[in-house]
Amino acid sequence: MTKDIAVIGGGIAGTVTALALHRAGFTARIFEAHDRDDDERGAFVTVAVNGLRALRELDLDPAELLTAGFPTTRNELLGAAGQLLADVPLGGPTSDGLSTTTIRRADLYRALRDKARAENIPISYGKRLHTLTAAEAQFEDGSTATADLFVGADGLHSRTRKALDPEAPAPRYLGLLNAGGFTARPVASVPPPGVMRMAFGRRAFFGWAGAPDGSVWWFANPFRRTPAEPGEFTPAGWHAHLLELFAGDPFPAREIIAASGAALGPWNTWDVPRLPVWRSDHIVLVGDAAHAVSPSSGQGASMAIEDAVVLGRCLGSESDVAGALWSYEKIRRPRVEKVVAYGKRSGSTKAAGPLGARLRDAMMPLVMRMLYRKGNPQGWILDHSLS
Ligand SMILES: Cc1cc2nc3c(=O)[nH]c(=O)nc-3n(C[C@H](O)[C@H](O)[C@H](O)COP(=O)(O)OP(=O)(O)OC[C@H]3O[C@@H](n4cnc5c(N)ncnc54)[C@H](O)[C@@H]3O)c2cc1C
Repeated sequence: MTKDIAVIGGGIAGTVTALALHRAGFTARIFEAHDRDDDERGAFVTVAVNGLRALRELDLDPAELLTAGFPTTRNELLGAAGQLLADVPLGGPTSDGLSTTTIRRADLYRALRDKARAENIPISYGKRLHTLTAAEAQFEDGSTATADLFVGADGLHSRTRKALDPEAPAPRYLGLLNAGGFTARPVASVPPPGVMRMAFGRRAFFGWAGAPDGSVWWFANPFRRTPAEPGEFTPAGWHAHLLELFAGDPFPAREIIAASGAALGPWNTWDVPRLPVWRSDHIVLVGDAAHAVSPSSGQGASMAIEDAVVLGRCLGSESDVAGALWSYEKIRRPRVEKVVAYGKRSGSTKAAGPLGARLRDAMMPLVMRMLYRKGNPQGWILDHSLS
């Protein structure tokens, strides 16, 4: 009987999986590549109500875990002239008291790891997986770990994925870069509380929201055919590049970026549309390692949390490990592949030529009105319940 489970990666999927396995009666240990205090984790992440609902399945309190965040329940979309094209619900407040919440990535990781530690789940830092067999993980520092089952939660560029299937397809680049940041001084144009405002610029897409402390949290998606190379931009060069990209756009991207000490990034946008192999008898994948979704979906974190809950439940309820992993994949694969496709579609509306932009701005208000007439077309994502 599988009892001892090693989770490779201590991000969102890894920590929540370890918590789920712990509740299901297993001994779970987390092996994380970064050092304990290494907070370079990107800017912020929006966790949608379906992900928060999944946390509750583990008796975790989303309000406590995401206390450093703030609700972002609506999304205003502005066209090329700065006009409002659509105002769409992002989730909540729901009847069960949840609201889609935006939180600094470092704060979310810290809260999840604190929770794991409070439940005596060991987290070993500085353990970057090098190679993995059915029985043993070898880390770059030369140490090894054995376990009955290995859970690959090592994200987009997962080595567990490669160990499981050397022929696994590489992540697909989606034609957008990512930047993010936080203003260090006041700016004039702050959306009302709860609103994430987003605008289609001519050379890049921009999103911004006002945090309760008065700062503005923002992200940008420059359009680019090829991924950014490591070291291609200096921090100052990246900041200047973003300012230049938004020159002439009728929304306050330049003001907001200029008011920020730094522009984080660039990160490339990838997804993993369909991975043929998710599991063997001794290895299974969760989160981005199994199915990275475009950030444009706003669902990567929530999919990782849902995976964790379902995996814990399957392993906890079926005595045969192979059967439990089969059930996990059967439940999760159709949903995540649909969300990956949705994320790709959402991202592709961000980059449009001049003609495409005119068409989009003319059609989107009508299309959105039609789509929302019968209820929220994203209901299948946001209202999903695992119970
Ligand atoms: C710019 C950007 C913005 C995003 N915004 C959103 C958003 O607003 N909402 C949303 O839901 N999703 C968003 N996403 C997607 C979301 O971040 C991911 O889907 C989510 O983090 C997946 O969780 P994970 O645990 O699978 O991977 P990660 O959170 O990436 O965690 C993987 C962990 O594994 C560790 N690791 C990596 N390699 C190894 C190794 N070899 N050995 C050991 N450990 C290893 C890493 O250090 C990390 O801690 C965004 C993604 C990007 C790039």
